[in-house]
Amino acid sequence: MTEPTLTIAGKPHPVDARFDVFNPSTGALAGRAPNASLADLDEAVAAAKQAFVSWSQTPDAELRAACEAVTAKIGEHAEELARLLTLEQGKPLNGLGSRWEIGGAQAWAAHTASLSLPVKLLQDDNTGRVELHRKPIGVVGSITPWNFPVMIAVWHILPALRTGNTVVIKPSPHTPLSTLRLVELMNEVLPAGVVNIVTGDDGETNLGGAMSTHPDIGKIVFTGSGPTGTRVMQSAAATLKRLTLELGGNDAGIVLPDADPKQIAEGLFWGAFLNNGQTCAAMKRLYVHDSIHDAVCEALVDYARNVPVGDGLAEGSILGPVQNRMQFDKVKRLVEDAKGRGEVLIGGTPGEGLFFPPTIVSGLANGDPLVDEEQFGPALPVIRYTDVEEAIAAANDSPNGLGGSVWSSDIEAARKLALRLECGSVWINKHGMIQPNAPFGGVKGSGIGVEFGEEGLAEYTDIQVVFS
Ligand code: NAD
Repeated sequence: MTEPTLTIAGKPHPVDARFDVFNPSTGALAGRAPNASLADLDEAVAAAKQAFVSWSQTPDAELRAACEAVTAKIGEHAEELARLLTLEQGKPLNGLGSRWEIGGAQAWAAHTASLSLPVKLLQDDNTGRVELHRKPIGVVGSITPWNFPVMIAVWHILPALRTGNTVVIKPSPHTPLSTLRLVELMNEVLPAGVVNIVTGDDGETNLGGAMSTHPDIGKIVFTGSGPTGTRVMQSAAATLKRLTLELGGNDAGIVLPDADPKQIAEGLFWGAFLNNGQTCAAMKRLYVHDSIHDAVCEALVDYARNVPVGDGLAEGSILGPVQNRMQFDKVKRLVEDAKGRGEVLIGGTPGEGLFFPPTIVSGLANGDPLVDEEQFGPALPVIRYTDVEEAIAAANDSPNGLGGSVWSSDIEAARKLALRLECGSVWINKHGMIQPNAPFGGVKGSGIGVEFGEEGLAEYTDIQVVFS
């Protein structure tokens, strides 16, 4: 059992209170995290503001080198971070679990270190010279969810550092331990105050809300649910904060009649069940043409049957438990409700504790809660269609627009259809495969702004134009 401290101004920061963090695989206590006060938050922001004075003036090559040093730290402590992540998040060490997440965090950090936003010359002639500079904003407030705590922390922190900003991060109360350690490690190679962390139990002290109104925070980067994101935007309005909001999704996959069910089954399964479905851009609704509907269902069920589900710390597990009770209850409610109208092809019955087996339900349609709501868990509705226009309309009939996919053996035909889906990312014959050099973000209710690539990096800057 671990009792980590906050890191503020480069030092361990004592707190008066702590809250319990549980291992979702066993229900046992995993650690006791600091329950920070608003005064602790103020100290963290003050430290970041102070550090910004010199960090923002640091030469570009040194910022890059610092990001490379952070990347190396993550690599050196990969196994320790992976175990801590599994302990509190529940995801298995293996498969697309915590070792994979830490590897991803390292890859994203490395790529972000390599990016830059050089001065752009807009004009240079006998009427004058016009330069576009990208300048850091100030203190960035990062608010993260519990599904990929380490990777998302890296997605928020590294571009902020790379562009000369300083950071205060607040992880989810469900998974604070791995982020506390990550920030402690970062502080071994960064100047004091450049990255600070506060954690809290989301009780009476609403740290996220206080960050969203804090006068000394210039930007909030938030990953989480739509309703909380909306509150962040409302609170941030008074101080005109810059915002990147990565919110929920209800991604649709469309399988065309010419797809090969056996060949696509594995990709469909992991598109939907990556991290037990607790993935923003997981496939959460699958539309399959009538002519191959039954064959696709059969191939998916065959694949799902052989995926080992168990304690995240057991080397043989490939899927773990649902991360928390609230999410578990949501999945259970949606699956119970679906039983009335649909057919459960596999799974459907909750296991011990927070374990819920991969569940596939056919016979549903838009209008059913399991199709319309973001389940964010291991339950996939498969919806039969006869006309592809009907499938596209059903896929687009959602307030969300994060990702989507088209599955076909005719790549060109799939590409044409892909462009008609209302979402920020669309994949062909795969789903959810984000990468650090491609901007990622949602349209409609799935968010504002993008992360990754130069476009994502630019969101951590304000433009200054110099006319001479
Ligand atoms: P959540 O919105 O409940 O919590 C996210 C964070 O916001 C947590 O750190 C929480 O403590 C904090 N918070 C709570 N109240 C707040 C307030 N009033 N102001 C500011 N911050 C506050 O989300 P969650 O349950 O942790 O995560 C699941 C959701 O996140 C899903 O909807 C999922 O789709 C979404 N998500 C989106 C992406 C993406 O990139 N689009 C990635 C991962 C998760």
